Amino acid sequence: MIQRVVGQVAPGPAAASVYAVCNRMPPGNHVNDTRLLCFRRDLRLADNPALCAAAQAADRLLCVYLHDDAEHCGGAAGWWLHRSLAALDDALRARGNRLLIARGPALATLAELCAAHGVGAVHWNRGYEPAQLARDSACKAALRDAGVATHSHPGSLLHEPWDIRRESRDGPAPYRVFSAWWRRASQHIDHPLQALPEQLPPPPDDAGGLSLDALRLCDGRPWQARLGEHWRPGEDGAQDALADFIDGPAANYAAGRELPGQRGTSRLSAHLHHGELSARQVAHAALRLADGEDRARFLAEIGWRDFAAQLLYHFPQTVAEPLDQRFAHFRWEDDAQALRAWQRGETGVPLVDAGMRELWQTGWMHNRVRMVVASFLCKHLLIHWRHGAAWFMDTLIDADLASNTLGWQWVAGCGADAAPYFRVFNPVAQSRKFDAGGDYLRRWLPALARLPDRHIHAPWEAPQQLLDAAGLRLGRDYPLPIVDLAEGRRRALARFAEIKGA
Ligand code: FAD
Repeated sequence: MIQRVVGQVAPGPAAASVYAVCNRMPPGNHVNDTRLLCFRRDLRLADNPALCAAAQAADRLLCVYLHDDAEHCGGAAGWWLHRSLAALDDALRARGNRLLIARGPALATLAELCAAHGVGAVHWNRGYEPAQLARDSACKAALRDAGVATHSHPGSLLHEPWDIRRESRDGPAPYRVFSAWWRRASQHIDHPLQALPEQLPPPPDDAGGLSLDALRLCDGRPWQARLGEHWRPGEDGAQDALADFIDGPAANYAAGRELPGQRGTSRLSAHLHHGELSARQVAHAALRLADGEDRARFLAEIGWRDFAAQLLYHFPQTVAEPLDQRFAHFRWEDDAQALRAWQRGETGVPLVDAGMRELWQTGWMHNRVRMVVASFLCKHLLIHWRHGAAWFMDTLIDADLASNTLGWQWVAGCGADAAPYFRVFNPVAQSRKFDAGGDYLRRWLPALARLPDRHIHAPWEAPQQLLDAAGLRLGRDYPLPIVDLAEGRRRALARFAEIKGA
């Protein structure tokens, strides 16, 4: 429960304060204007449209993070969120404000806060997931009825999901093919960034609130302790990560992004997901790079994030249902043991296991490896992509409903612009191609470290004397493959052929 501070406030002053803003009353007639800014996945001060608008208009600004338990937050993302909120509070305090933490159903809690502090207007940056849209329209209607103005702002994407549509016979329709969408979307990505005043309006007196620990975002699971070795949540960490990328790997992004053993990508996904950086800030930084393939490729990846959000906005059912309805009756296998082996990185297939262990230990996995582990689960093991997506949502620091749903449906072959169903990644060939020297495998699978490069990708094919020399006994130090790769591929193709043309 939030801490109650003041009693009910009559609707009169609240309505007057909205009037003061909208009609720019001269100073003599000025009434106190308290505004509430609801932080969500926009945990930053820079280029934050809602914060900017609220700060410009308010005399007093109540900055709130409202945690609704009904909204899913996985374990790794929860760890991140805790630290990001702490960093946001520090940043707000440095500018004369602070973060009030509240917990409860969004509408009731917001209404209570507005009444307690005499809030005349509430600002937030929009979210586009189905639950966020439902929550926001309910809040908008109820607060309006209570005499509180609401202002929603575009703060998360390059484009609003409804902005770019294609012409179809039946009128405007959402894009389902990335390249066509991006041809239009990429023409306008240099939107001006929002500035923030050095000093923010102060919070209302006695703003109160919960302690961050009360949200219990970090549940003490052992792997959470290790995440801090790899990441620095918060806006400063995000800005540093962006600068490191722009000054380093960005210059070789097109090739480097494919190599999981190298630091070839930006590793910005969790910062972007939590809104410690806006997509527009990232696009601005990238646009300062030399024009060429590396820049174009990186901007397109930022585009995929937007594309995922617009797909989820237009096709909300895809969280649980395949976009391609032919897959609705696909015969998946129910194999709890294989799923467990996949989750633990104990399938006996090195690239799959290395990826799943990287995920477990760092909360992140390289994109190429995400595709390989996902393909292995839903093609070689024929386990429903929803099980994989759920595991990712719990273990990824960047767990994002839109990007995760797109990624899984793409790999399974049932989503928008998806890989064709007959594309079954061969994890050994992928490993040889993208981790030829075995750097990535050795980092995450120390048991295989002493195998020569030639055999590390498929240890079961290595001669016994080499295994002995590497001190490796398969089945004891490292598992034998839980599925024969060639047989698994055949089985997947046969199963997928059942729905072909259905
Ligand atoms: P970079 O290569 O540096 O890309 C820059 C940014 O572009 C990323 O931070 C991300 O915001 C965006 N981006 C890059 N690739 C994609 C993509 N394919 N789809 C959407 N956005 C992209 N990404 C998530 O942020 N959250 C997820 O939950 C998620 N789940 C995925 C599940 C599967 C099965 C697959 C195949 C991909 C998933 N991705 C997800 C996309 C992608 O793997 C990650 O965004 C990327 O690996 C993050 O690393 P990076 O920041 O170094 O990326």
